[in-house]
Parts: sequence; C-alpha cells; structure tokens
Amino acid sequence: MVEEINPFENAQKQLDIAAGKMKLEPSVHAMLREPMRILEVSFPVRMDNGETKIFKGFRVQYNDACGPTKGGIRFHPDETIDTVKALAAWMTWKCAVVDIPYGGGKGGVICNTKEMSEGELERLSRGYIRAINYFIGPEKDIPAPDVYTTPQIMAWMMDEYSKLKGYNVPGMITGKPIPLGGSLGRGDATARGGMYALKEAAKYLGIDLKKATVAIQGYGNAGQFAARLVTEMFGSKVVAVSDSKGGIYSEKGLDWKAVLEHKKKTESVTGLKGTKEITNEEILELNVDVLIPAALENVITEKNVARIKAKIILELANGPTTPEADKILHKNKIFVIPDFLANAGGVTVSYFEWVQNTYGYYWEEQEVHENLEKKMVKAFKDVLEMAEKYKVDNRTAAYMVSVNRVAEAMKLRGWV
Ligand code: GLU
Repeated sequence: MVEEINPFENAQKQLDIAAGKMKLEPSVHAMLREPMRILEVSFPVRMDNGETKIFKGFRVQYNDACGPTKGGIRFHPDETIDTVKALAAWMTWKCAVVDIPYGGGKGGVICNTKEMSEGELERLSRGYIRAINYFIGPEKDIPAPDVYTTPQIMAWMMDEYSKLKGYNVPGMITGKPIPLGGSLGRGDATARGGMYALKEAAKYLGIDLKKATVAIQGYGNAGQFAARLVTEMFGSKVVAVSDSKGGIYSEKGLDWKAVLEHKKKTESVTGLKGTKEITNEEILELNVDVLIPAALENVITEKNVARIKAKIILELANGPTTPEADKILHKNKIFVIPDFLANAGGVTVSYFEWVQNTYGYYWEEQEVHENLEKKMVKAFKDVLEMAEKYKVDNRTAAYMVSVNRVAEAMKLRGWV
C-alpha cells in the first residue's frame, strides 16, 4: 500500500473536480469540503497480562443534511484521522447515491486486532463505545462494520450502548448478528450490491459475464463474497485472489470454497495447492475482464495505472484509486464502477436493518435482495445518465448525483 498519499486530500480533489463540472456554488462547495464534526478519544483497555493500554479512536460526522450520519468502524494499526475523514466523506456520497435518508460518518481505532485475544478485542470494542456513546445514537450517528470489525464486535458494541441507556437499543448499530436484530442478507450485501452494478455495467458494455475472467484483491468480507457471488450468479471465472499476505493465480480458475477453507486453516489464501503465487501488485495488472479491488485505499496510482488491463474495475474497497490514476483509466477507456457506488450495497442493507429495528418487524431474505437490487440498479442508471449527459468519467458523475442530493437537502434546511 502506498501510505504517503493522503486519502482525505484525494476525497477533496474528487469533490473539487465534480464541483467544477457542475458549477457548484462556493458556499455549498466549502461546506462539503470539510466534516461537520470530529471526535477524538483516548480510552483505557485492560490487557490479558494485567497491564492497561491506552488506545486512540476517532468518530467523524461528515454531513448530516440528509439524515443521521452512518458509517462503519475500522480497527487498523495504520488508522489516521485523515483516513477516517476521507471515509466519512465517501459515506456521505455513498448514502446519497443510493438515495437513503442518511448522512455520512465513520469511526476508527488505532489497533492491531491480529495481536489481540478475543477478550481484549471485546474490552476494546466496549471501551470505544463508552468513549463515544454521547456522540452516537439511532437517530444521530449509526456505526457498522468495516475493515477488521465483525458482527460479533457489533454485538458487544450494541450491548455496551444498551447497558449505558438501560434498555435495548438495536438500531444504534448495524451489521449485527441475526439473533440481536441483524438483517438477513447483510453478510454478503456489499459484494451482492457490487454484483448488481457489475451486471448492469456488463450489459451496457456488451460483455458476457459467463465468459469473463475476474481478479480480486482482498479476501475479507467484500472480497470473499465477491468471489463466491461472481461465480454463482454469473458463472464467471475467478483466476486470482489475494489478501494482506499475498495472492494466488490459476489459469483454470479458483474454487472459492477451497480458497476459503484454506484461508480459515492457514490464515491466508497463499500456498493453496495447484496455484501460482503472485504479489498484491501483480494481481492488479493481470489480463482479466473484471478487476475487483476489495482491500484498502490507494492501490491504483499513477505508478501502476498504465499497466492495468481490465475492462471493468468494480471498486469494492473504499478509495482504491487516486485522482491522478483516474484520469488515465478514463483515457484508456476502462469502465470504472466507483467505490461509493460499487460498494453501497453494505450500507443499503444496513439501512434496511435499521428500518427493521425501528418497526420491530423482520423481512425475509428475498425481500432484502430485491430491494437491494432496485436501489443498486437505480443508482447505477442515475450515474450513467449523468456521465453521458456531462461527458464525464463515472466517478465524477457519481459525485455529481450525490452532491446534487446533499446540496438540495442543505438548501431546503436553509444552511446555504
Ligand atoms: N463500512 C461499510 C461501508 O464502507 C458499511 C457501512 C454501513 O453499513 O453503515 O460502506
């Protein structure tokens, strides 16, 4: 990962490009360039060896014109306030592009979950919620899972918040396990939403997904479900996958189930029998039809963009492409399904979960899938229409769709 690139500066640059194309009023533009509120916390966690360690966490509420802020919590050793600010900005655009009544927010804790026991992780999760509890709430700011946070972590967080309030508050967080008010279909929602967008893109470009080859960088919540769904829904061939330790390639195609079992046993996709080792850099440059970055930000940059050969890039990760690389992708006619559109399925089903928590009535999985598909197809079409009308790349078009919606909400409120 190229760490010297500041993701928040990238998020601002992307907004500036769209603002220029749409001739956005200066006050609206200025308001949307910065987060509305930031909270930084330090909190103690008792470690297994008896020592107390102090952890640092953040919660950013970027813009709440469209509704309560919404967005995940990342546990990552390299977490910075700029990453969280960028991710909170992207959540704002993400909720707006699928037209759900939320603003954007994000949280993060600087920690390495791989070095922590389950008990330590539970105490860290509860400690973070105690530290930020007055800042969040089901009608204020609603967290969810993200990098290295899981449904179990959401369960601890919901329990801690409920204890502080003195009653059960399932709607304060989404991505919960099903018995605690989670929604059916939330588990694979990010990848599934991406598949609905991919289907539309392939239709538009005249690509037969049944014959398509796919490479996926990242085998976490987004990447592993993407491998499964692209195989099961379209019959495409996944030829390469990777995780933080490296990647594997097979010309014949990889069996998602075998990869998953191998990763469960060895904690990595690497070393699976019958596959060739490749690096996380090489996976991006393979000669495939569909490339799915599903790990971290800033992986497609001006350094490697010229070597990217895919016809479609489905960005399941947040912020995988820098603005400099974007220009070249557009010039090279690579069809990018930009992150906050491609991965909006997660927050869309989070919204469905929150709705179900609010009225205490739970949907069947089929209903979740159908409603998700409707949201994704509509968002994809809105973006494509904008791209064609203003002759801009898909990311700029997605910004224009979202910025219009947030700007309208701010104007109606009388802010700008
Ligand atoms: N962390 C996910 C994202 O980046 C999901 C957010 C949510 O469900 O609120 O979209």
